[in-house]
Amino acid sequence: MDFNDTPEEATFREEVRGWLDANAKQRAPGERIPTLADDRTGAVAEAQAWQARKADARWACITWPAEFGGRGATPIQNVIWKQEESRYAVPPNIFTIGQGMLGPTLMVHGTPEQQERYLPKMLRGEEIWCQLFSEPSAGSDLAGLRTRATRDEASGDWILDGQKIWTSGAHYSRWGMIVTRTDPDAAKHAGITYFVVDMQAPGVEIRPIKQINGATNFNEVFFSGVRVPDENRVGAVNDGWRGAITTLMNERASIGAGGAAGPGYGDLLRLAERISWNGRPAIEDAAVRERLADFYTRTQGLQYTGYRTLTALSRGQTPGPESSMSKLVGAAMRQQMAAFALELQAASGALHDPAFAEDEAAWQAAYLGAPGGRLAGGTDEVMRNIIAERVLGLPAEKRQDKGLAFKDVPTGPQA
Ligand SMILES: Cc1cc2nc3c(=O)[nH]c(=O)nc-3n(C[C@H](O)[C@H](O)[C@H](O)COP(=O)(O)OP(=O)(O)OC[C@H]3O[C@@H](n4cnc5c(N)ncnc54)[C@H](O)[C@@H]3O)c2cc1C
Repeated sequence: MDFNDTPEEATFREEVRGWLDANAKQRAPGERIPTLADDRTGAVAEAQAWQARKADARWACITWPAEFGGRGATPIQNVIWKQEESRYAVPPNIFTIGQGMLGPTLMVHGTPEQQERYLPKMLRGEEIWCQLFSEPSAGSDLAGLRTRATRDEASGDWILDGQKIWTSGAHYSRWGMIVTRTDPDAAKHAGITYFVVDMQAPGVEIRPIKQINGATNFNEVFFSGVRVPDENRVGAVNDGWRGAITTLMNERASIGAGGAAGPGYGDLLRLAERISWNGRPAIEDAAVRERLADFYTRTQGLQYTGYRTLTALSRGQTPGPESSMSKLVGAAMRQQMAAFALELQAASGALHDPAFAEDEAAWQAAYLGAPGGRLAGGTDEVMRNIIAERVLGLPAEKRQDKGLAFKDVPTGPQA
């Protein structure tokens, strides 16, 4: 493990800081990273303006190859960029699904025409993209998807019917990338085709999902006879699983490079110092100190495990299974830390109006958002399966659907 920047990394960091200093304001200590929350217009426009500014200076999508407008930056340079940008008061990045996952998929599986049409506007944030993968009965088991695409022989177009769910940002997205069932007679993974779909096409209906924290970041999306031209097909007919895997690999990489938003251990410590318990600062209570010590130990463990990933990236290696461990431990710990912060706040922990709650209700938001963190990008159980099979070498799960045509896979009643 190596904690220091190499001379090249230090030079790159200086260059990044130079540009950010000239173009943005550093966040004040304790100033929170803004979230998109529920603002459907103003916040999106602000994020787009910041993205365009970065694009003008070639600081947008730096890992993209130069031919697509990036700098061909290395993964470690990308980590440095994100570390530095997070120190400035800039709008939240609402483009990661397109730029981090769908754009790279188009680079590998898209036609030159698709790349030319979509990538430049994706890079500038001018057109926002969403990922139409999950369905009510296909999440962890994505290949169980049932949204149909049927060929209209007369026009050559494809007609989409079905439902997606948990589609982040569908309500402000111009385009989506969707995986569909095109051959139910083929085995589960073999009859899937991948498309670019116009989110404003007739027959697309976007219904917001109201979350426990009051925000509506994701949606149900219904497709009723939606016409998609064949030129929007990404990859060969019935070969969409290959593209889906590219997208999912990039999703893991983007989550790994992102770093967790929201309050951290330092904020918890300050809260315990500030808040009073029985007339004394809470931090003087032995039970509180014990919990803090436990969180500190785990935070440090996660930080050093993160450094192992960074060291691998810095040496041009592919990070190992430690990213699954970090995801599993980190997501659960953030939830436990937020719950403890609310306990410390006693009755006022029930407040969630930023004007009245401690730390502008950041802990309340973290507590309500934490369960989502344990699902997105692979649930706790899926992470455990990965660790069991790929790290510990335990036998793989039994698969009931192996070798069966999709239409013959046993299932419960379908709507
Ligand atoms: C914040 C957030 C944003 C998201 N954004 C998007 C998006 O933009 N686009 C999109 O397509 N999807 C999105 N999703 C959906 C996400 O991909 C799914 O939630 C995830 O794949 C899990 O699927 P599921 O919710 O259907 O749960 P299921 O897969 O139905 O799982 C239900 C439970 O069963 C467990 N389980 C499942 N399989 C196994 C197994 N083999 N072994 C043991 N236990 C198992 C799970 O761990 C879980 O506890 C988002 C989710 C969240 C939380």
